Amino acid sequence: MSFQKRVEDFVCAKCATKVKGSGHTNHCPQCLWSAHVDNDPGDRAAECGGMMEPLRIEGSTGHYRIVHRCVVCGIERSVDAGKDDNIEALVALASKNAGAIMGP
Ligand SMILES: [Zn+2]
Ligand SMILES: [Zn+2]
Repeated sequence: MSFQKRVEDFVCAKCATKVKGSGHTNHCPQCLWSAHVDNDPGDRAAECGGMMEPLRIEGSTGHYRIVHRCVVCGIERSVDAGKDDNIEALVALASKNAGAIMGP
């Protein structure tokens, strides 16, 4: 028996985009939603299975992280943004966050 690193393709439960698994990211590059399936990144050990909403962007140019919150259990996680992520979705999320900070 040897440990296998599974690379899983999946269909986004939010927007139905077919996502090619990279083995590192499990969020949808189109809508940025994820699913609560890991306790530690990649272990697929979480039993929650809830959808994870993209909350905000952290980091700086060249190294963005997406902060997700599980809609079921409320846990927050941050993951590295992928190079295939939809830039408009990232910008929209970042500006939503900036608006919340700079709003009236
Ligand atoms: Zn999606
Ligand atoms: Zn959860």
